[in-house]
Amino acid sequence: MSQAVPLHVDAPVRAKVDVAVVGSGPSGLSAAISAARRGARTILIERYGYVGGNLTAGLVGPCMTSYSLDGTTQLIRGVFEELVLRMEARGQAIHPSKVPANSPYCGYITYGHDKVTPFEPEAVKMAGLEMLREAGVEILFHSTVIAPRTDGDRVNGLFITSKSGIEAIDATVVVDCSADADVVAGAGAQTVYGREEDGLAQPMTLFFRVAGVDDAKVDAYVSEAQEIRPFASIVEDARQKGEYTIPRKGIGLYKTMRPGVWRINTTRVLGVSGVDVADLTTAEIEGRKQVHELMEFLRGRVPGFADAMLLDTAATIGVRESRRIVGEYTLTLDDLETGRHFDDVIGTCGYPVDIHSPTDAGGRLEDDPTANVYEMPYRMLVPRDLDGVLVAGRCVSATHEALAAIRVMPPSFAMGQAVGTAAALAVATGVQPRAIDVDTLQDQLLEDHAYLGPERVPQTVG
Ligand SMILES: Cc1cc2nc3c(=O)[nH]c(=O)nc-3n(C[C@H](O)[C@H](O)[C@H](O)COP(=O)(O)OP(=O)(O)OC[C@H]3O[C@@H](n4cnc5c(N)ncnc54)[C@H](O)[C@@H]3O)c2cc1C
Repeated sequence: MSQAVPLHVDAPVRAKVDVAVVGSGPSGLSAAISAARRGARTILIERYGYVGGNLTAGLVGPCMTSYSLDGTTQLIRGVFEELVLRMEARGQAIHPSKVPANSPYCGYITYGHDKVTPFEPEAVKMAGLEMLREAGVEILFHSTVIAPRTDGDRVNGLFITSKSGIEAIDATVVVDCSADADVVAGAGAQTVYGREEDGLAQPMTLFFRVAGVDDAKVDAYVSEAQEIRPFASIVEDARQKGEYTIPRKGIGLYKTMRPGVWRINTTRVLGVSGVDVADLTTAEIEGRKQVHELMEFLRGRVPGFADAMLLDTAATIGVRESRRIVGEYTLTLDDLETGRHFDDVIGTCGYPVDIHSPTDAGGRLEDDPTANVYEMPYRMLVPRDLDGVLVAGRCVSATHEALAAIRVMPPSFAMGQAVGTAAALAVATGVQPRAIDVDTLQDQLLEDHAYLGPERVPQTVG
């Protein structure tokens, strides 16, 4: 669905709901749970057979920091915190408060990497599913949203395709957590793609995991080498000798909770679009080729990886950036740098502006320091020209640079909780999402353990 294609089909209606959530990644999972807990009859539609999006299918991890940049205050709480605690109780996650910067769990990186959350992808599939079912969400797996149902400038449902054929969903509010703004773009509303100056987006990466690593040897090497970017000199040496062709300067190696198992975030496919099926195919093929080159490199050159074997590759290439909506407000780098306060704040974040270069092997993490805590406003989740829809996660209204900070998984949970709560509020009060009472939304988010800054405290807590 790279652009609006009017769909005129006489599809049978499978469900009539208050809120239909598209996609079960961090944002959609959180949105569906939150809408249902607030009393909305909610359906969650997911093209895969399990929940999690990049948490599971993408093998992406750890969850980057949910804390302020200085690591002192936990900012992302609510549904995210519940999921983490549930997984931790089963020994399948480590609470971020226990994971310091510079640890193997955060790739030995310091800046912006204090208090990440290591977790097992299988744990998300189970714990996420339980939370959805306990909240009363109707779940529809193996179903792809192909277009919105519209009435003028208003979305009032979806067309889905599955083994059951093409069917319709009637919904009072649709929450687009597809990460590509599929619903908003499909309705013909304005969207943008990539950098403002040339439309190029961050590169894609196929995650993979390896087993059989000697964890102690990796640790010993890193503490002895004392490099700001661990392993950078090994990569450079291999590149000089023509033994490393991946267009990326550093390697991202993240220890998992299983002894000897590491996630590798290093393949890089440049110049491909996340909403072009030919490009996605090219990226999958190129990503897989790079995985095999990297296995040789890791085994041959990286201390501790001599006996490593490929455990698995992600079910899908990871897309860092694609289509974004044009919302009532567009979050900017300046908002992040100044820590601008918004009257309609729905979440706070402290993760840095993390840009993998769209054109070469480089990247930016420390170049544009943000405030210690910055705010996300409700209006960036509301499409400017379309009613009946809210958006959360990777496709919200933000500039290329601002998105590079808020795209990670904890803030996606926070945005999801906000839009799920807002959608239920819109249904309950009979207004369009853009017209809800934002004070009430904020009170409800606080009641549900979100954190909106030190000045905002729950009204109902005695
Ligand atoms: C390579 C890479 C590395 C990253 N590293 C990290 C990291 O280390 N830590 C971190 O916290 N974040 C990281 N991120 C960022 C993070 O993973 C994403 O930005 C985040 O998952 C966005 O959440 P989301 O809910 O918007 O989308 P997603 O996680 O992409 O979920 C979208 C869901 O929607 C479903 N879907 C999409 N379209 C449709 C449709 N039409 N019909 C039905 N279902 C649909 C998908 O199947 C998927 O389940 C990384 C991202 C990438 C790509």
